[in-house]
This record gives sequence, structure tokens and C-alpha cells, in this order.
Amino acid sequence: MDCLFCKISNKEIDADILYEDEDVIGFRDIHPQAPYHILFIPRIHVSTLNELETEHATLVGKLTLAAKNTALKLGVAEDGYRILMNCNNHGGQTVFHIHLHLLAGRRMGWPPG
Ligand code: 5GP
Ligand code: ZN
Repeated sequence: MDCLFCKISNKEIDADILYEDEDVIGFRDIHPQAPYHILFIPRIHVSTLNELETEHATLVGKLTLAAKNTALKLGVAEDGYRILMNCNNHGGQTVFHIHLHLLAGRRMGWPPG
């Protein structure tokens, strides 16, 4: 399958990896939107949130925990951060392998654009 994030997970394409376990990998976004911008992906391919099934519930929990633990490690947890997933066109999704964004290091605006 020709998927950029599967290739990053398989180490076929380089990324600046900050977090890794058997199910999840976390790496720096190539176009950071904040001082810290890290993407957490499942190693298995799921295209969008719309393809999520009950069997993926633990995996999505693991993405969230990986983001929280990375925020702690980076020393940004106390100041705060934002995690989010974009879905399809209106959500602004551009890579079709689900990923949780961790944005930190500055105050985030609300509502998002
Ligand atoms: P989306 O817009 O789908 O929610 O987020 C996709 C993210 O992947 C974007 O923030 C984009 O900058 C990032 N991205 C796209 N291509 C690459 C790449 O080759 N390497 C890394 N590390 N990030 C990428
Ligand atoms: Zn993939």
C-alpha cells in the first residue's frame, strides 16, 4: 500500500521519532504549526476516523496516552497543549492514515480556523 505514514512506521521513510512502542509511533511534523508538533499514528493502517471500529478503541486510547506521556517528557504538560485529529475534507485531513496531532509550546487559539 502506498501510504506515507505506513512507510514512516516501517522505517522506509525517515522521520524524527520521539515515541515508539509495538502499536504506536510518534514523530515530529515536517511543517510544525507550534514549537512542538508531533504526530502519533497506529502502526496498522486506518485511513480516516470514519473507518474506526470498536476493535480500535484500545489503540486510540494508546495514541492519547502516547501523546500525554510525550508532553510530560518534553516538559510542556503543565503549561498545556492540544491534541486533535482531522477527518476528511472539512476537517482538513491531508494524509489518509489516522494521526493524532500534539501541539504545544504556545497558547492555542479558539475557535480553530
Ligand atoms: P493532516 O492535515 O492530515 O491532519 O496532517 C498531516 C500532517 O502530516 C501535516 O501536518 C503535515 O505537515 C505532515 N506531514 C506531511 N508529510 C509529512 C512527512 O513526510 N513527514 C512528516 N514528518 N510529516 C509530514
Ligand atoms: Zn498507512
